[in-house]
Amino acid sequence: MAGPALRLKIVQAGEPVLRQRARALSPEEIRSTAIQELIEHMRETMHDAPGVGLAAPQIGQNLQLAVIEDRAEYQKGLSAEELTARAREPVPFHVIVNPEIVARSEETAVFHEGCLSLAGFSAQVERARAVRVSCLDHRGETRIIEASGWYARILQHEIDHLHGGLYIDRMDPRSFTSQANYARYGKGETR
Ligand code: ZN
Repeated sequence: MAGPALRLKIVQAGEPVLRQRARALSPEEIRSTAIQELIEHMRETMHDAPGVGLAAPQIGQNLQLAVIEDRAEYQKGLSAEELTARAREPVPFHVIVNPEIVARSEETAVFHEGCLSLAGFSAQVERARAVRVSCLDHRGETRIIEASGWYARILQHEIDHLHGGLYIDRMDPRSFTSQANYARYGKGETR
């Protein structure tokens, strides 16, 4: 069993690890005590932030591993219309390792997104509305994930992290805003 969870430091943009392509993990490594404990610590850190995803490079580990969970309670600040537009539904906690996007929809969606490594900011990012992801799970077993809506966005964001990417590489730069100003001026935009 994993030890008591720790809250890890989330590194901010400019930290070199965020710009490196992370290293893949073998199924044996995934099942090791060290990685199982890392998963628990990342889960705790993501909940504490709070965030809907956290990639290992964000806590300074150059590994192709991310945790994802979108809880219903995180969605309370959004209206029914906003949730429908984003196709945002709760996603249970799970782990992706060595993920690859093997198919993506031609149809895209543009919404504001933020990142725990660019704390206090957000911007509009165009992403595929649906993706198919091949990865390993927390037991090192192969999984194919079919995702659409906000979950597809979360996957694309986290997989970018594992390849050294940040949303600012893909954003509409003129939409970049502090989250305070987004709350003030920026709600409701879609394209
Ligand atoms: Zn991020």
